[in-house]
Amino acid sequence: MATLAHDELIWVACPARVWRAARVLSTGDDVLSVEYEADDEVEEEGAEIPLHGKSAPKLLRRNAVLVGEGAMRYDNLTEVPELHEAAVLHALDARFRRAQIYTFTGPVLLAVNPFRSLPLYGPEQLRSFGRGGATSAAPHVYGIAARALEGICARYESQTVLISGESGAGKTETTKFVMQFLALASKPGEDRSKRHGGLSPVERQVLGSNPLLEAFGNAQTLRNDNSSRFGKYIELQFAKPAALGDDVPNPRMTGARIHTYLLEKVRVIRQQEGERSFHIFYQAIAAAQSQDSEMELEGFRGFGLDSFKYLNKQESPNEVEDFEATLAAMDAVGLSKTEVTQIFRTLAAILHLGNVTFESAGESSHVVEKGPSSPLALAAQLLGVDAQRLPTALTRRVRQTPEGSITSTLTAPKAANGRDALARHLYHAVFNYIVQRSNTTIGFQPNLSFCGVLDIFGFEFFQWNSLEQLCINYTNELLQQYFNEFIFQNETSLYEAEGIRWDAEDFPDNTTILELLHGKMEGVLPMLEEECFHVGGSSEAWCNKLVRLHERNKHFAYDKLKKGTFIIRHFAGPVTYHCTEFLEKNKDELSPDLVQCLKGSEEPFVRGLFEHLDRVFGVGQSTSDTGRGRVLKAQRYSVSGEFRQQLKELLQQIQSTQPHFIRCIKPNPKNQAFRDREATKPFFDRPSVAEQLSYQGVLAAIKVARAGFPVRFWHSEFLRGGSQRAPETGRSGRRCPEGLLAWKVALSISII
Ligand code: ADP
Ligand code: MG
Repeated sequence: MATLAHDELIWVACPARVWRAARVLSTGDDVLSVEYEADDEVEEEGAEIPLHGKSAPKLLRRNAVLVGEGAMRYDNLTEVPELHEAAVLHALDARFRRAQIYTFTGPVLLAVNPFRSLPLYGPEQLRSFGRGGATSAAPHVYGIAARALEGICARYESQTVLISGESGAGKTETTKFVMQFLALASKPGEDRSKRHGGLSPVERQVLGSNPLLEAFGNAQTLRNDNSSRFGKYIELQFAKPAALGDDVPNPRMTGARIHTYLLEKVRVIRQQEGERSFHIFYQAIAAAQSQDSEMELEGFRGFGLDSFKYLNKQESPNEVEDFEATLAAMDAVGLSKTEVTQIFRTLAAILHLGNVTFESAGESSHVVEKGPSSPLALAAQLLGVDAQRLPTALTRRVRQTPEGSITSTLTAPKAANGRDALARHLYHAVFNYIVQRSNTTIGFQPNLSFCGVLDIFGFEFFQWNSLEQLCINYTNELLQQYFNEFIFQNETSLYEAEGIRWDAEDFPDNTTILELLHGKMEGVLPMLEEECFHVGGSSEAWCNKLVRLHERNKHFAYDKLKKGTFIIRHFAGPVTYHCTEFLEKNKDELSPDLVQCLKGSEEPFVRGLFEHLDRVFGVGQSTSDTGRGRVLKAQRYSVSGEFRQQLKELLQQIQSTQPHFIRCIKPNPKNQAFRDREATKPFFDRPSVAEQLSYQGVLAAIKVARAGFPVRFWHSEFLRGGSQRAPETGRSGRRCPEGLLAWKVALSISII
């Protein structure tokens, strides 16, 4: 063990702060006496630290550059001479206290959500990050957007900004800032953000799509009051400039295309305590109750939040204004008055459907209330279907067999399941309709370069993890792999530029986890899809097969005491999945009787929502002539199968572009700006930030950067005395004229 000298600077591991900055006062054989740097969150200023035994904390040497004010000077963390978890956390914390929420680590932008409005996004900033602007290299979301735009102007190369982070970390807000910059990036001398007239129709439509998608796709959850319940990838297209180069004018935005993923439609029928359904339901109810709204809102008028079983009863203050904003957004993306009316009728129908109840009579069931103003009659009327046919379709199942049709009855719980499946489908179909209509209005042309922005759910691990989490975490593994490749390439080119050799031994690699998840025959997801098409297949059978096959895989585990569960050791950490319901959720079946019933609606809009639905029959509609007569072909639909296909296309698209990464970080689990009532201490909870840095791969990326040569100084700085001096200025973005001196010594991360 190396000895510590008096006055030496160290990091001390501490559960509450992860690492605390301290200075050695004196050393003994068994204890170390230290003085901690001032810290708002932990009172104690000096302490005796045991050096041996279980309670001895880990210690690290600390570089002088991170002392006091020095800690916030680094715009780019990879310029901190000795970099590891302690230094990253300390620097981010120090910067956050000064409302510097953006920091680079290499080319990756870290964005810590301030949970309060900061003056960072005005016309002034738009201008200064624009072409030839003063601060274009500073860490800022506009800076990343500007780099992307630059790639389009200078080389006409497509770009993608990949934004990740957990729920509430600020992904969607960041996405909006990127879109705003791309739409408004002012031409030199012109401030277009001030006069909306300056926006072209496409720009207006593109920006209008945000509030619309949020009204229909966002909801209040325990983690975020405005949580996106779907993933999205938006491509913003730009016309080819007459010439390419650094000084050509900004190209015109000519089109856009929105892709959405995995809408959490189960939220339509139930929400957990403290959460709500999609915003749009509450907006429409509030608008129908207010005198001001001119919309007819058939099916909503005369009802309140208490009227609907599908909705948790929680109001929020600005519902009517939000409703007006949603209407304006619907108008902006080109939805006609008739379409808007139809959309709201369908939403009302969904809520009335939720009020339909069933009563069992032996093995069959019937709808409890059937009168002219019953929920069933209202739903039928709003959907334009026969009020006699709907209850039959809800409580019976007709099967076609070679011998003719067989009708069976459904018990009340089964009928209720069918009703819920219909409600979920209706909502999803309305959501898709809106996305597709927006896309048609805005328009997208082949062969033009674009800037994609990806705002997709981050890694999730809850008490109970199901199909949704598996799909989400699979997505994150794929994106992590892509991120790893990017970091690797970036590092390699850095070393090449410096003429240094290095071995990439410590390179983080999650290929084998991905293999476990999507391997052709035996992967967890392909096996699930297979089980869905297996007659008599079940979630339990699938789970047992997984255990049998993968028992020895280092990324797989199971707990004998917890039957029906398995564990995947994801890149971000282990997650226990509960098998029950996986199969049903993945099949996502909708009764063919209900589909037929709604396909017979008088309303073309409703009929349209059931087009392309052949897949729900399992064995589908498509027939082929094999010479021996027409054969029914299986339409192998499953939620995960479709999603994997979408992801494949998404990745192909992203791989054809130049990537930019923004990692969003939630500073505390309480979504609060400050820790204290007086609002003086920004709330930066180091343990939860450390966790996010780890599972977002930020620490792994830093480790890669430091694997070959952990200590790096600019030549000039090294000659000036290197680590013992704090730099006079942060120097982000300045190209280093003198080159980097990388040092292959092990002192930085050594535990004393
Ligand atoms: P996510 O999409 O990652 O779940 P959001 O983007 O919805 O998170 O952000 C959650 C909330 O945090 C927002 O509603 C907003 O109040 C706040 N927020 C996020 N980013 C910023 C920011 N840059 N400035 C101010 N507030 C922000
Ligand atoms: Mg979001």
